Amino acid sequence: MLIIMHPEASQQQIDNVINVIERQNLSAHIIQGVEQTVIGAVGDSHLVGKEVFEVLPGVVGVTRISQPYKLASRQFHPSNSVFPLDGFSVGGQEIALIAGPCSVESRSQLLETAQAIREAGANALRGGVFKPRTSPYVFQGLGEEGLEYLAEARELTGMPIVAEVMSVAQVELMIKYVDVLQIGARNMQNYSLLRAIGDTRMPVLLKRGMAATIEELLMASEYILSGGNSRVILCERGIRTFETATRNTTDINAIPVLKSLTHLPVILDPSHSTGQSEFVTPVAKAAIAAGADGLIIEVHNDPSKALSDGRQSLTPEGFASLVKQVKKVAEAVERRLVSVHN
Ligand code: PEP
Ligand code: MN
Repeated sequence: MLIIMHPEASQQQIDNVINVIERQNLSAHIIQGVEQTVIGAVGDSHLVGKEVFEVLPGVVGVTRISQPYKLASRQFHPSNSVFPLDGFSVGGQEIALIAGPCSVESRSQLLETAQAIREAGANALRGGVFKPRTSPYVFQGLGEEGLEYLAEARELTGMPIVAEVMSVAQVELMIKYVDVLQIGARNMQNYSLLRAIGDTRMPVLLKRGMAATIEELLMASEYILSGGNSRVILCERGIRTFETATRNTTDINAIPVLKSLTHLPVILDPSHSTGQSEFVTPVAKAAIAAGADGLIIEVHNDPSKALSDGRQSLTPEGFASLVKQVKKVAEAVERRLVSVHN
């Protein structure tokens, strides 16, 4: 961290900054310019907030040189993190395809959809049972009944289960049934939930908040990683912009930017990032071309009857077509889909 002193800062103010640096277990390096003094604070500075120095008399600015997230950063861990899941891995050469309905609605809806996506080449099954809905009057998810259906679908298809956990109180129940805990966009900065998930040893799919910066997403992942849970997959799911033609705006930039900043796997959710089924496949292809490690796609056996997110859900046939197209893009960028043995 670099602490820039005011040109008129007194020696006493400079000495005070040095004292504070040393109290934080960092070492102070003084650069005496003609006009002003700059003090470098060297050590584990990600553990110390900039505010500690910004408030000191005589300080005009503080600039970080290293990232405020450490465990998530490539500086700390240069090679890609690759996590084995049931039957495939994420973060390596292979592209992971997670698919399934927005919500688990019934046994037949889930099992039919699960079988169809498996045949089309999905590697993991998604399905929400606790739904973060804007309106409290609409379908909120089946809760534990939905988890029973997900467990049955796993038995039937062999696919691991990805489902959203909305609160600390749900963690205990969810880990009995699911293989990957999803943290939704609306909970990306629910710090008590992040800490509770950091205490588990379950793989996590952490979605970017709809108004969160890339740095805030990485800081959210740091909460989980610093609890000792290292298996975090990051997911871009579109951000809120001035554009109203689509539900959200896919931040394609986030994919190569995240891949450069972090060793964690990065996937895209083109269903939520576009909000319309006809745009899901083109944007999915763009994500793979941009370096994404996988996709999470909403698929419903009958989107016109879906209880949530039908407008953005693909039919099983639409998903099969997406898989074929994504496969070609993956090969063009020297990646490959996971080979699925039915
Ligand atoms: C979902 O995956 O169905 C969901 C609610 O996603 P997000 O948190 O990205 O809105
Ligand atoms: Mn959804």
